[in-house]
Amino acid sequence: MSEQTERIVNAFPGLFHRDDGKMFTNIGIGDGWFRLVYDLCAAIQIEAERAGVIPEIIQIKEKFGTLRFYIHGASPAMHKLIEAAEAQSEFVCESCGLLGKFRASGWHHVACDPCERKRGSR
Ligand SMILES: [Zn+2]
Repeated sequence: MSEQTERIVNAFPGLFHRDDGKMFTNIGIGDGWFRLVYDLCAAIQIEAERAGVIPEIIQIKEKFGTLRFYIHGASPAMHKLIEAAEAQSEFVCESCGLLGKFRASGWHHVACDPCERKRGSR
């Protein structure tokens, strides 16, 4: 498990609770998106406390180039927050977290120009 995953799971234990007591590890995203996901989890946590609703995060991953955030038991307000973050991921480089562009050629992904060049030279 990545250090980034561990940090985010430890920061929001209520959202990443597992009934079997094991650590949640179902986060498959690049390092550049962890800030976005962290901020989203913080907003969900605040909404959970406000509304008295405890959702369960199931999986966080990249799909067709953008963020996908799967959750059970979320309120409509939480779904709005998630939709906004998923839409925002289209503009955040998945490698470094700076302003990126959605790249539809080949494997769909979001990258800034320098990361895209690195990728191309690999
Ligand atoms: Zn980048």
